[in-house]
Amino acid sequence: MNVHDSDRIRRMIQDAGYAEVQRYEDADLVILNTCYVRENAVDRVKGHLGELNRLRREGRVKRVALTGCIGAAEESAALRRTYDIDLVLGTHNTYELAEFVGLPTMQETYTPELPGTEGGHNAFVTIMTGCNYQCSYCIVPTVRGRMVCRPMGSVIGEVENLVAGGTGYVTLLGQTVDAWRHEGKRFCDLLEAVSEIAPRVWFTTSHPSNMEDRTLKAIGERNTIVKRLHLPVQSGSDRMLKVMHRGYKAERYRRKIEVFREAAPDGTLSTDIIVGHPGETEEDHEQTLRLVEDCAFDSAYIFKFSPRRGTEAATLPGTVPDAVVQRRFLEVLRQVEQNAFTRNQRKVGGEEQIYIRHGSTEDGKAIGETWSGHAVHVNTDAAPGNYVRARIESAGPHVLYAGEADTSV
Ligand code: SAM
Ligand code: SF4
Repeated sequence: MNVHDSDRIRRMIQDAGYAEVQRYEDADLVILNTCYVRENAVDRVKGHLGELNRLRREGRVKRVALTGCIGAAEESAALRRTYDIDLVLGTHNTYELAEFVGLPTMQETYTPELPGTEGGHNAFVTIMTGCNYQCSYCIVPTVRGRMVCRPMGSVIGEVENLVAGGTGYVTLLGQTVDAWRHEGKRFCDLLEAVSEIAPRVWFTTSHPSNMEDRTLKAIGERNTIVKRLHLPVQSGSDRMLKVMHRGYKAERYRRKIEVFREAAPDGTLSTDIIVGHPGETEEDHEQTLRLVEDCAFDSAYIFKFSPRRGTEAATLPGTVPDAVVQRRFLEVLRQVEQNAFTRNQRKVGGEEQIYIRHGSTEDGKAIGETWSGHAVHVNTDAAPGNYVRARIESAGPHVLYAGEADTSV
C-alpha cells in the first residue's frame, strides 16, 4: 500500500515539473512517505529527518514534507516540534500535496490517471481503503480509518485503462481485500470480473474471517489468477487469537488452507505471524509452531510484537521478555524455512512459464514469478513484463533457481 501511495505521489510531483533524484543532497523537495505499523519504521524516519535537517541548514534541501501513516498519527506533532518539517499530511489528504507542489488541488484520492506502476507492465489497483477490524495490536484502523470500498465500475474502468495501456499484471490492493462489498457484489465477483480483463492478477491482503471458499476455488480454476495466497494468521493459539480480536479460531484457518491446497495443489501460501504479543505463553507459542507445521507455509513474515500507542495491546499486562521473543522468533522462522525448503525442492526438474518482474542485473539473472507464485532467478535478458520458459535447476527456502530461459514463449 505504501509503495502504491509513493508511486502516486511520485507521478503527482513529476506532473508539477519536478524530476526525481537519487540523493537527498540533490533535492529541493523531499517527501517522506511513512509507515507506522511497527516502531522500527518510526526510528528509521527519525534518522532520515535528522539527516534532512542537517542538509537544510547547509542550504541543500529546501522543503520537507511528511506523508503517510505517521502523518496521520499523534506522533507527528512531536516530530514537528523536533524537526523542521514544512507539511504533514495523513493518508486521506494526499491530494493537498498537489497544492504544496504547485498543482491544482485534486479532491479525488483514487486517481485512475495516476495509477502508480512499476514501469507500466505491472500495476497496483486500490479496491478499498481503511479497515473495520480492531486487532488488539494494530494501528492501521487509527491511521487509515474505516473501510471504504471502491465501486466496482471504477475498479473495472481503471483495470481496462491499464490493460489498454500495456499493463500485463494487476494487483488488487487493500488491508482486507476479501472484505470488499459493493451493491450486493462481493470480493469474488470483483476478482472474477478483473480476471476476465487482465492477463495476470493477484490480490493482497486477505483476512481469514472474510475469505470465502468460492474465492479459494476461483484461484485454482482461473488461469489468469496467480496461485498465491497471502492469508495472515498471526497466531496458532485460539486464546491469543481471541485476545487479538481476530474473529476466527485456528481450526477454521486450517480448514481454509485445506480448501486452498485442494483448489491449487501447486500454489504458494504465505502468512503473517506476530511473536511476543502481551500474554503469549509457551503453550501459545507451541500451538503457533504446530500450525506452521500443519499449514506448511511457503513463506511468512514474522514480526516481533511492537507496542503502538493508542492500541489496546500497548496497555495489556504480560509483556514477553526480549530474549524470549527473540528465541520464539527464531523457532518460528526455522520451522517456516524448513517447510518452504521442502516444498520448493518439489519444483526442481520441472519446466515453468515465468513472468519477468525485474530485468537482469550484471550477473545476467532476472527475477521472475511462476504461475504458482514462486519467485525465480532466471538467466535471461528478457525485459520486465515478458514471459519466458525455463527449467528449475535448484531451490532454496526463499527462491527457485532456473537455468537458461527460452524466450520464444
Ligand atoms: N490487514 C492485514 C491483516 O489483517 O492481515 C495486515 C496489515 S499490517 C500492516 C501487516 C502485518 O503487520 C500484520 O499482519 C501483523 O502481522 C503485523 N503487525 C501489525 N501491527 C503490529 C505490531 N504492533 N507489532 C508487530 N507486528 C504488527
Ligand atoms: Fe490491522 Fe489487518 Fe487487523 Fe485491520 S485486519 S486491524 S489492518 S491487522
